[in-house]
Amino acid sequence: MPATITSEATLSSVLHASLGGSPPRIVAAKGNYLRTEDGVDILDASGGAAVSCIGHGHPRVIQAIKDQLDAVEYCFSPWFTTTAYERLAKFLTDSTGGVMEKVFVCSSGAEAVEAALKMARQYFMELPEPQPQRTRFIARDRSYHGNTLGSLSVSGHKARRTIYEPMLSQNMTHVSPCFAYRGMKADETDEQYVARLAQELEDEFQRVGSDTVCGFVAETIAGLTLGGVPPVPGYLKAMKAVCDKHGALVILDEVFAGMGRTGTLHAWEQEGVVPHLQTIAKGLGAGYQAVGALLVSKQVVDVLSKGTKAFVHFQTYHGHPLACAAAYEVQQVIKDEGLIENCREMGAYLGELLKERLGSHKHVGDIRGRGLVWGIEIVKDRQTRQPFPVTDKIAPTIHATGLRKEFAISLIPGGGVADGTHGDLIVIAPAYNVTRMDVELIVGRAAKAIEHVLGGQR
Ligand code: PLP
Repeated sequence: MPATITSEATLSSVLHASLGGSPPRIVAAKGNYLRTEDGVDILDASGGAAVSCIGHGHPRVIQAIKDQLDAVEYCFSPWFTTTAYERLAKFLTDSTGGVMEKVFVCSSGAEAVEAALKMARQYFMELPEPQPQRTRFIARDRSYHGNTLGSLSVSGHKARRTIYEPMLSQNMTHVSPCFAYRGMKADETDEQYVARLAQELEDEFQRVGSDTVCGFVAETIAGLTLGGVPPVPGYLKAMKAVCDKHGALVILDEVFAGMGRTGTLHAWEQEGVVPHLQTIAKGLGAGYQAVGALLVSKQVVDVLSKGTKAFVHFQTYHGHPLACAAAYEVQQVIKDEGLIENCREMGAYLGELLKERLGSHKHVGDIRGRGLVWGIEIVKDRQTRQPFPVTDKIAPTIHATGLRKEFAISLIPGGGVADGTHGDLIVIAPAYNVTRMDVELIVGRAAKAIEHVLGGQR
């Protein structure tokens, strides 16, 4: 007697984000659209979580993966190397003009952050005069650097940390992010704001013991949790100056903002600051493979080269040939199709249209972004900037509304933007290859979904 086949729709063994039901089932993905099993084509205005940056089903990347699969599908990276790994690493170091000298390829953003934290610690242990007292990291409030315990420890996003707090490292502390909409005083200039944030970082160094800090961890442009907030001019330079004064490393997390999305391959290129360690992921592999990477500067490599000559950290799947082959081809597509330039041009157009269409909505507090990442911050009251109660679930409702067939758009819902717990955000982060027509469609559909939940303009 054959086993009864239960309807897949009613019995899912997948541990979905919500235990209360299954999200729409995607059966095909092409260009900037995802097709559900009901035949609805959803406009992918979020690229998943800002990942699918060259669209779905790109034939060049698919072919590159197939070729790699035929050649070497896997080998253990601590023992062997592959052309795929070597080629990707060289592309990445060259892309920084050689200031980043080595690359460790892993499978996600959080893994890249974990590797960065361990690398920073190892750097201080292998200096000619080791500094074993350096065990701390200073990161920023309302930040997100991943959901593994180390990366969550540096993350300052309360809602994501709270229940795991007792398991998180107490050596990670947080200062204010550079977030003009909520952090800058009405009568403050950019310079005064930057000076105040630099002083706060200085005070934190003093509070925890300035020679106990391995590094300062920040997103170059705050993506997921703040919604595409570019730093105030001079901010990162000022932060780096404080770190330099205390001999601490600067770790820039470009998992979200890196690899072209903000208009340059590396977001730090626009800030005049070079990090000691850099993490990348989402746009690196564009979703064709699970891939992230840690880029290590010459200063750090030099110390390790004279020390143990080894990175005391490896993983079964690091440097995976399929991931490396896919990521390399994605980067060639981005270059050949002029997509970074398109991020700048279409990003400016997207920002302009969003402001035109939604800028005066009574529940839209702020619209900000750079390149192809834009955040729409939703507030209960524009004057006071007071957020809606969390229980109103505004951003999740807009997200769910967008997925309905009459709106058919995928948007990223964010929460906790005001204080780590309250404050709704919708993030738009489409593929780098969007056209003017795509941008118009995105703004039209996003605005309709937002207005459906929040009401019309006034
Ligand atoms: N760092 C940043 C800035 C991120 O935005 C994310 C994910 O959104 C991560 C790290 C974690 O990446 P992953 O989800 O690939 O582990």
